[in-house]
Amino acid sequence: MISEEMIRLGKKKSIIREIFEYGKERAEVVGAENIYDFSIGNPSVPVPNIVHETIRDLLNQKNDIDLFGYTSAQGTLEIRISISNNLNARFGTCFRPENLYITCGAAAALRIIMQALTVLGDEYIFFTPYFPEYKVFVESAGGVFVESKSNPKNFQIDFEQLETIINRNTKAVCVNSPNNPSGVILSRENIVRLALLLERKSKEYGNVIYLISDEPYRELVYDEIDIPCITKYYKNTLVCYSYSKSLSLPGERIGYILVPDEVENAEEIYAAVSGAGRALGYVCAPSLIQHVIAKCTGEVSDLSAYKKNRDLLYNALTEYGYECVHPDGAFYLFVKSLDSDAIEFCKYAKKYELLLVPGDDFGCEGYVRIAYCVPMAQIKSALPYFRKLMEDYKVRNMR
Ligand code: PLP
Repeated sequence: MISEEMIRLGKKKSIIREIFEYGKERAEVVGAENIYDFSIGNPSVPVPNIVHETIRDLLNQKNDIDLFGYTSAQGTLEIRISISNNLNARFGTCFRPENLYITCGAAAALRIIMQALTVLGDEYIFFTPYFPEYKVFVESAGGVFVESKSNPKNFQIDFEQLETIINRNTKAVCVNSPNNPSGVILSRENIVRLALLLERKSKEYGNVIYLISDEPYRELVYDEIDIPCITKYYKNTLVCYSYSKSLSLPGERIGYILVPDEVENAEEIYAAVSGAGRALGYVCAPSLIQHVIAKCTGEVSDLSAYKKNRDLLYNALTEYGYECVHPDGAFYLFVKSLDSDAIEFCKYAKKYELLLVPGDDFGCEGYVRIAYCVPMAQIKSALPYFRKLMEDYKVRNMR
């Protein structure tokens, strides 16, 4: 006998990956330039030059054991000093290297945190729309995935609903701002409100309810909107971060967990994080890229291309009649499907080689996600087909 659950997970690929694979196959048939693949959040802007230069310098300066050997399980001291200094300079915080645990990206950070915190039956609350892998991470750690519907007008938290969902089994509430897939940023006012609610509920139940802040898009913010530093608003916040998007390094698998000193039982939680990393077999994050990040904290790719893409796509689609909450960050548009069945709509869009992802797995039926981290030329070529798609549906709806 082998695990039925793992067979199920392995066979049912993520919908994003399925569409991405379809795009690659289709490109073989019709040519890559004729496919408008908006499926996956793979950064399209280059890694900054400083990262290339740092890799070259490291290869020249360090020996192979330093560069490619195992590091401490929690990451090198050098990278943790560099990250804590950078966070403190930016946010006026007092984090120490001992608050950081370096991971293979945000995915590993989230999975480790959930393994570290979960006692069987613990519940984790996620706001719709959410990154579909959260469900896999929570359930494989033995937790219960609980959904809280956001306000569909602006995808901010619906507090009345959240209050009815939190209960004594709630272990954590998770936020992801800027959000994948809506691009929405949680307002400061709502973060304050969330913090007050969690404090009140923690007191009422006599258990800490943690706030897990998943922040791979923290630097991808447009129009000079300010992103609040959540640890300052709620002391029991645990942060999961990744360099996948800000430095365009998703394949390098590098990120971290931040366990601030203010968190209740911080020492035990950090120990549990280390234990969970060990139990899951992570050993340490890749060594070369740890050395690189240690020298490049604070650097970001040229993210201005995403803002240009967002403006072009958002303005054109809304002009054609599509409905979409204005995205202030990340690199996704979450658009109302023209068919009440978004899966059918995405199938139909393939007629024009437009590859879109149905919102169903993000907890929102009737929406599609468009990842605009693509060359601008792809958006320009795809726009006439988005217009045709709208015209087709206008005709269909008149019948
Ligand atoms: N969280 C969110 C919201 C994401 O969108 C992603 C990846 O797209 C991840 C976590 C995982 O990121 P990483 O590549 O760092 O594992």
